[in-house]
Amino acid sequence: MSLPLKGRTAIVTGAGRGLGRAEALELARLGASVVVNDYGQPGRDGSGAASVVPAEEVAAEIRAAGGRAAAHSGDVGDHEQARALVEFAVEQFGPLDILVNNAGILRDRMVFSMSEDEWDSVIRVHLKGHFNTTRCAAAHWRDRVKAAGGPVYGRIVNTSSEAFLAGSAGQPNYAAAKGGIVGLTTSTAHALAKYGVTANAICPRARTRMTEDVFTGAERPPEGLDPLAPEHVAPLVGYLASPAAAQVNGQLLVVHGGMVAIVERPRVGARFDTKQDAFTYEELDALLTPHYAQRPRGETFAAVEVLGLRHTAADR
Ligand code: NAD
Repeated sequence: MSLPLKGRTAIVTGAGRGLGRAEALELARLGASVVVNDYGQPGRDGSGAASVVPAEEVAAEIRAAGGRAAAHSGDVGDHEQARALVEFAVEQFGPLDILVNNAGILRDRMVFSMSEDEWDSVIRVHLKGHFNTTRCAAAHWRDRVKAAGGPVYGRIVNTSSEAFLAGSAGQPNYAAAKGGIVGLTTSTAHALAKYGVTANAICPRARTRMTEDVFTGAERPPEGLDPLAPEHVAPLVGYLASPAAAQVNGQLLVVHGGMVAIVERPRVGARFDTKQDAFTYEELDALLTPHYAQRPRGETFAAVEVLGLRHTAADR
C-alpha cells in the first residue's frame, strides 16, 4: 500500500494518552512524521506536575514501529508554548502539513455550582488551546502561500464532543468549549480554503482516562477489539488528514465503535415575519406560543435523542 501521508509533518496535541495516542500512531502508520505533544499532567482535570514522559513514551512507540516521531511537552493553553510547538515541528520534520487538536481536560460541575476556575481552565485548554495552535499553523500556511504564490497542503482536525451536541447538563464549561470549537472550525474552514487548507471537527467516543467513569455499563469484551477503543476513532482522523479528503471542509462528524455519522448543518425549522414594522411582544406571543406548545416539553436545540449520549454528571 502506498502511504497517503508519506513525507507529511503532523502535530497531535494531547497525544500522550487515549485518543490522541491512537491518532498519533495512526498518522505515523500512514507515513507522517509526528510531533507527539502532551503536557503530561497526571490528573484528568489538569492537576499535578507537567511531565514529558507520556509524550516521550508514545514517540518511542512510533519509532519502535519504524515511524518518525518527536515528543513535545508544551501546554497548548499557553499561546507562546503553542507557537513553540509549531516551530518545533517545522524544525524537526519540515513544513507543517497536519494539525490535530485533541488535548483536553475535564472539570464537570452543574452550572449552579461551577467555580470561575473550573470554567476558565476548561475553556482555556480546549477552546483557547485549539485557537492557539490554529493561529500559529494558519500563519505558517499563509506565509508559505505568499512565498510559493499558490495553495499549500494543510489539514486541521479539531476535537469537539457529543457533550456539545447533546447539551450535557453537568458539563457547561466543556459543552461550551466544544461548541466554540465547532464555530472556530467553520470559521477557519472558510478563511483557509483558498490556501489549500481544510478544517474539520470530530465528536469522538472512546474509553479513556477522561471517560473512565462514563462507560461503566459497557464492559470490555473478554477478547477482540473493545467497541469503545480509541482505535475506532483514529482512522477517521487519518482520512481527514489525507489528500483524499481535499473536498471535506468545515464538517462535523461523530465517530465511535465502527460508526461515522456526518452531522448536518443546523437548519431553520420555522420562520416568522412581522406583519408590522417591527415585532411587538403581543405579536411574538401570538405566533411563538402556539408553535412551541406543539413541541415536547423540554425539547431543546440539542440532539440528545439522536446521538444517545451516555454522559451523566453527579448533581454536586
Ligand atoms: P485523555 O485524558 O486520555 O487524554 C487527554 C490528553 O490531553 C492527556 O494526555 C493530557 O495530558 C493532555 N492534555 C491536557 N491538557 C493539556 C494541555 N494544556 N496541553 C497539552 N496536552 C494536554 O482524554 P481523551 O478521552 O483521550 O480525550 C481526547 C480529546 O477527545 C479531548 O479533547 C476530549 O474532550 C475529546 N473527547 C473525548 C471523548 C471520549 O469519549 N473519550 C468524547 C468526546 C470528546
